[in-house]
Amino acid sequence: MFKNFINGEYVDSVEAKSFSKRSPIDNTVLYSVPEAGKVEVDAAVDAARNALQGEWGLLTTDQRVDLLFGVANEITRRFDDFVDAEMADTGQHRHVMENVFIPRGAANFKVFAETIKSASGESFQTATPDGKGAINYSIRVPKGVIGVICPWNAPLMLMTWKVAPALACGNTVVVKPSEETPATASLLGEVMNAVGVPRGVYNVIHGFGPDSAGELLARHPKVDAITFTGETRTGAAIMKSASDGIRDVSFELGGKNAGIVFADADFEAAVDGIYRAAFLNSGQICLGTERVYVERPIFERFVAALKDRAEAVKYGRPSDSNANFGPLISQEHRQKVLSYYAKAAADGATIVTGGGIPDVPADLAEGAWVQPTIWTGLSETSAVVREEIFGPCCHIRPFDSENEVVALANDSECGLSTTIWTQNLARAHRMAARIEVGISWVNSWFLRDLRTPFGGSKQSGIGREGGVHSLEFYTETRNVCVKL
Ligand code: NAD
Repeated sequence: MFKNFINGEYVDSVEAKSFSKRSPIDNTVLYSVPEAGKVEVDAAVDAARNALQGEWGLLTTDQRVDLLFGVANEITRRFDDFVDAEMADTGQHRHVMENVFIPRGAANFKVFAETIKSASGESFQTATPDGKGAINYSIRVPKGVIGVICPWNAPLMLMTWKVAPALACGNTVVVKPSEETPATASLLGEVMNAVGVPRGVYNVIHGFGPDSAGELLARHPKVDAITFTGETRTGAAIMKSASDGIRDVSFELGGKNAGIVFADADFEAAVDGIYRAAFLNSGQICLGTERVYVERPIFERFVAALKDRAEAVKYGRPSDSNANFGPLISQEHRQKVLSYYAKAAADGATIVTGGGIPDVPADLAEGAWVQPTIWTGLSETSAVVREEIFGPCCHIRPFDSENEVVALANDSECGLSTTIWTQNLARAHRMAARIEVGISWVNSWFLRDLRTPFGGSKQSGIGREGGVHSLEFYTETRNVCVKL
């Protein structure tokens, strides 16, 4: 059903290899996916290269912009198809799909269409010895074929965050969606065809990472640059692949983000903000917080309030309007998360709530369910506090001073985001600048303006995407020097 999409057509794998996509909800097989091998990856990259030389390469910016608005409108027209496909793949609830992930898929195309329309260059008048001078001006040209390698946690949103600017800038793409979430990337092929995006501009190959479609794409000599979102250690592997041929990379990688709550914060707003940051999408959001630091005077009260919220979740199918909490993406990922739950217990954590597998109705029993979990009392050296778990869990620790909490927050190899809660604005600005991250949220979390720079510091990423920042990666800047 969800095949590779190459040169405008849905194709199987010539090796007839396939893999099963299982439901996170109950572990039943949802559908089978053809795994792209060398033949399909070569074909997709060739299609993308040829498209650069064809009709696509001759379009004006305005014509590309019209097509991208068409893509956004067609996603919106087929909203329910995208919601249903992503709900089935991820097991996450309808309200998140309808209010965040799918609308963002359409919005990504609109924002980068607008960005490219108003992008400007630079120019200089240069003095020359003959007195006649020269002018220098810059133009932006597409980089070429972009390999787009994506994770499973917000599939359409994260994929289009890269595909939209790549196409806006005139590139062509070969997308490798996560093996856990093949559906919406495939569906987007139908959208591309429906609105008349030329063949070969958008291609999708399915499969795994190492020794499969992902690695074949990352190593492919005819891919000009690679944009990747996923785990930090996968980024390291892709960077090695990209070094052959000196290809550029843009990386959005893992996080171990600190949430910081001062005693003067709006208490209810802070509890709500940290609840969402720790548990939304079952904790499977790179920007979420698994380390929470709360100023001592409100520590006990805060832990109790967050516990109440965590214990009120309702497990259930995405279509169940009474439910608000979904499973993890897979049994394999559940094993990983549960291994951290076990480590926390072994390291002597106080388990405030959760720590295991919830009771769910019999028809859901085979799904990848885990309890939202809160710990206190762990040392900062525990693996649970240092390593990204990517599950619905957080450790909460009290702090006494601004300097202390800055040091705690920055004591991490990751540097993606932070969320700071205080009503003292001077302190908020100070803190936002001192935490070593790509995004500091103050009295908010996951509030995004798509024109702003997005990315990670330290091991959380390379480069910034969003608004004009995406142009830096998806174009080459060429200088033209004209002697007068
Ligand atoms: P992952 O790194 O396991 O896989 C991501 C993609 O890379 C998949 O498509 C996979 O098949 C592919 N892949 C794996 N090994 C590869 C290789 N050697 N060569 C080429 N491709 C390879 O990540 P995941 O488990 O799908 O996603 C969760 C991770 O993504 C978390 O670490 C999370 O923090 C991170 N993430 C980061 C951001 C961000 O913006 N910084 C956003 C979302 C998710």
